[in-house]
Amino acid sequence: MSRIYNFNAGPAMLPEDVLKQAQAELLDWHGIGMSVMEIGHRTPEFIAVAEQAEADLRDLMAIPKNYRVLFLAGGATAQFAMVPMNFFGSKSTADYIDTGIWSKKAIAEAKRYGTVNLAGEVRKGDLISIPTQSELKLDPNAAYLHYTPNETIEGVEFQWVPDAGNVPLVADMSSMILSRPIDVSAYGLIYAGAQKNMGQAGVTVVIVRDDLIKDPIPYTPMLYSYKVEAENKSFYNTPPTYSWYMAGLVFAWMKKKGGVKYFSELNQRKAKKLYGFIDRHPEFYRNNIHPDCRSQMNVVFNLNSDELTQRFLDGAAKVGLVNLKGHRLSGGVRASIYNAMPEEGVDQLVAFMQEFERTNG
Ligand SMILES: *Cc1c(COP(=O)(O)O)cnc(C)c1O
Repeated sequence: MSRIYNFNAGPAMLPEDVLKQAQAELLDWHGIGMSVMEIGHRTPEFIAVAEQAEADLRDLMAIPKNYRVLFLAGGATAQFAMVPMNFFGSKSTADYIDTGIWSKKAIAEAKRYGTVNLAGEVRKGDLISIPTQSELKLDPNAAYLHYTPNETIEGVEFQWVPDAGNVPLVADMSSMILSRPIDVSAYGLIYAGAQKNMGQAGVTVVIVRDDLIKDPIPYTPMLYSYKVEAENKSFYNTPPTYSWYMAGLVFAWMKKKGGVKYFSELNQRKAKKLYGFIDRHPEFYRNNIHPDCRSQMNVVFNLNSDELTQRFLDGAAKVGLVNLKGHRLSGGVRASIYNAMPEEGVDQLVAFMQEFERTNG
């Protein structure tokens, strides 16, 4: 049996090298006669796995020393609540930029703990676009500014970092972390679920500046306190050990390949090929996102009818290009091309698009 190209938005395709290593180590990890998923999280063996994963991530992202890295459970969705619970402090409002469905979910959760000031909103029209820095209505007294650098569902991505002045910037990087270089010091807190660009579902990475780690609002569960998790090195309770191990394998694989720089260049090439083809065939394929904010990770496009879209998806699946269906809320086609998607996968998709237009145009 041969592997196919999986364009799923998440959980997403993993590097074949990583899967093979996990397979080779599954029954007998490092000669201990057990799987790493069967050992205690407080054993020296697992602590070494956990620390190596953190060290590799720090290296890949050049995370400054005054930032803590936490490996938590609950997905990015848990962070929608943890951020307001831990960051509202004595303030009553937080700024949020709404660029799509994931922003909206974060906003809905934050509203349960305080007032949300809508600092900016996506513009819909012939072309979808995001607000510019000068259009943001920022509150200098906000507890923090939250935004979603890459909207996984709509395929909209910021190519710049909002400037919130002294207000801490919080970013949900679930679908773009490690895809391009990031200046971590511009952020107060970064969070990302692992299942798009870092491995399998189950673990969420939180990178937080240490002076922002304070007591959360009353009645916050202990497990949802950054302070408790930081004091316990993410071991307040049993962490998702196997997902943490898998993320570690992905980080090591990334370093071996050439780090974020290598993947950033690869991702630029992949996105350029796909958008370039779409733009050269506007009668048949359309992407309605302004070129200034097109996602490098999730390329969405439409065909002329639902019937044609279905035929496209069926035909693609027959040649081993799967999970291209757009999100249930937006329809159309979505090709998620995270770090693990090889350039050949995109080449094959473009070749299929060309052939499909020739036979259906
Ligand atoms: C996938 C995704 C989420 C949700 O992640 P869960 O692990 O399901 O909680 C949140 N934000 C963004 C940007 C995502 O892509």
